[in-house]
Amino acid sequence: HFRCRSAFKLLEIDDRYRLLKPGLSVIDCGAAPGAWSQVAVQRVNSTGERPDLARGCVFGIDLLHIAPLQGAHFLSNRDITSPSTHAELQELLPQAYADVILSDMAPNATGLRELDQERLVCMCLSLLELAEKLLRPGGSLLCKYWDGALAPKLREGLTRAFQDVKTVKPKASRKESAESYFLARTFRKT
Ligand code: SAM
Repeated sequence: HFRCRSAFKLLEIDDRYRLLKPGLSVIDCGAAPGAWSQVAVQRVNSTGERPDLARGCVFGIDLLHIAPLQGAHFLSNRDITSPSTHAELQELLPQAYADVILSDMAPNATGLRELDQERLVCMCLSLLELAEKLLRPGGSLLCKYWDGALAPKLREGLTRAFQDVKTVKPKASRKESAESYFLARTFRKT
């Protein structure tokens, strides 16, 4: 019942690291078609399906259209690197802060490996600006990257902003060999 197989990557990472807890606010960057948001909706209890647990919220953003999903608030046709999207999110988030930023974003591949890697790293670096504005101190960020020459630069940027940064390679993404995720935890707001 997931919209995309990518759901299994997030399930696997979250089973291990427990990022998504009932009551948390989540921003899902590059959310279309919506499978990660489906996982997040369940785990933060944003539909209130478990009335005994705290109710969280999920905001999904994509350049593309995202079909509606109960428990999620989607901002379709938006660029997550744009300050106007940041402002819109700030208005919508409870207390103007998110606890978790997820990013499974990927640029349209040009086929030029190094160029594609570089573009994805730049997109991930722009998530640090988003975090600076909207992530609660102590919050976490999970982002996809393609391994290559610029990956250490991204790790460095994350290490400046977060106490703990690790590489996570879910079994579910073994086939896409260059794909990994950085899990950055305990955000230090500057
Ligand atoms: N996690 C999603 C799921 O489980 O359904 C799949 C995400 S897909 C691999 C990557 C998405 O990132 C694409 O839909 C693409 O449109 C989006 N994307 C790329 N650049 C973006 C940007 N600057 N702002 C928002 N979304 C972006």
